[in-house]
Amino acid sequence: MHDHAQHRAFGRPIALSVFALGVGALAPLGPSIARAGEPDWAAAGREAAGTLSAYLQVDTTNPPGNELAGARFLGAALQREGIAVEIDEFDVGRANLIARLPSAGLEPPLCLMSHIDVVTAEAANWRHPPLSGHIDAEGVVWGRGALDMKGMTAVELTAMVLLHRSGQALRRDVVLLAVADEELDNRGVLRAMERWDRIGCSHVINEGGVGIQDMFFAGQTVFPISVGEKGYVWGEIIASGEPAHGSTPQPGQAPERLVEAWQATRAWSPKPVWDPALLGLLEAVGEEQGGVAGVILKHPALTKLLLRRKLMGNPLTRAVLTDTLNVTGFRGAEAPNVVPGEVRANVDSRILPDTTVEQQAQRIEALFAGLNGVRFEVQSSTPGGRSPTDDPLYRALERHLLAEGPHLAVGPAISPGFTDSIHLRTIGVRAYGAVPFFLTEDELRGMHGNNERVSVVNLERGTRVLYRTLVELTVAAAQPTASTTN
Ligand SMILES: [Zn+2]
Repeated sequence: MHDHAQHRAFGRPIALSVFALGVGALAPLGPSIARAGEPDWAAAGREAAGTLSAYLQVDTTNPPGNELAGARFLGAALQREGIAVEIDEFDVGRANLIARLPSAGLEPPLCLMSHIDVVTAEAANWRHPPLSGHIDAEGVVWGRGALDMKGMTAVELTAMVLLHRSGQALRRDVVLLAVADEELDNRGVLRAMERWDRIGCSHVINEGGVGIQDMFFAGQTVFPISVGEKGYVWGEIIASGEPAHGSTPQPGQAPERLVEAWQATRAWSPKPVWDPALLGLLEAVGEEQGGVAGVILKHPALTKLLLRRKLMGNPLTRAVLTDTLNVTGFRGAEAPNVVPGEVRANVDSRILPDTTVEQQAQRIEALFAGLNGVRFEVQSSTPGGRSPTDDPLYRALERHLLAEGPHLAVGPAISPGFTDSIHLRTIGVRAYGAVPFFLTEDELRGMHGNNERVSVVNLERGTRVLYRTLVELTVAAAQPTASTTN
């Protein structure tokens, strides 16, 4: 069955004729394989919801993480299906889970990735407790991690299990990789990378992109697939001067120099960089929308000319278009009558994939060239990166997401924030961020906020998109047989 859940997902009825048009237009884009013999999607959605509800009740709040409990929960669910799992406990209570559907090994494995840990929650502000996994009468699953990102794990696991049950022979391994500590120090993915020769995936599906309803135009859902992420340069501005007594003001004191340095950062105004990914996404939006807006968005020269001011004027889109430099806090002595010899400011600078860490560090240092007693020190950094859109996994995700239309635009994007994918790209893994849910702005606020939740409709959709992607990319061309998986 195709999409009778669509109109519920949009939260309001969509005229049947429009709906039918959408399906009719999109059907030829879908894969020619397997629709007839596909799983019962409504049942799959309920199964994913049941898995998610139980998984949300496993407390993996980071800190401390305790991802071992989450890994054991997922491991048990997979083992019940006869899928081999490995739990890699790399520190006390901190663990990654690696599960695998074996194959003929004709291509490198494909990874379904997620993180096990979740951020903290202020339970008093939630309608249903963050660790409840409550499923309400409207078919919504509540809990910290429903979106970020236990909901994704639930649909990844369900898609993998359905593929396994189908008994189809695979040409490449399917790996479920659930890692620890994404929300704080990325220790889980770094651990997995140390053993990547054993995991072996050339491609990863991870968090990063999600469908956003009414993003640019009312009634249209935009799904940016994250093909890249900005890198970061984190450091400190250090201002120094003679320590002195507060009673006797003098020029050249450290705090004054730090404020001058901060003012210098405020004057920095980077130019917009029109990444091909952004132009590609806007083009997809325009294509779907049509009309005057469509004409503009389909032509990069017009987009740059007419949208520059609007996009640069909004902090959210500005962060997509430019390198950024943000002074996020100040530190120094606390006593009012002591002028410290040194005070510091934290700097969070984010760089587009084509800006190097060294370039950005030099730019920041140059801002302080005319100032006495001010220096910049990089504390940690990672370059940004991108994966190509001319890639079978990207194209499959795009196609199977589009089949969830109507009024849907799918295109590439460079994320202003980063996920574990930033690290994987440094070792040549192609990573695509696509959590196949379509969300309202209000639902989006649940990520790291209050009342995080996901609908069963979205869980059904997510399972369907991932299952179809897996079938396209991993099932052997040969006739399905029932005996090649164990
Ligand atoms: Zn996350």
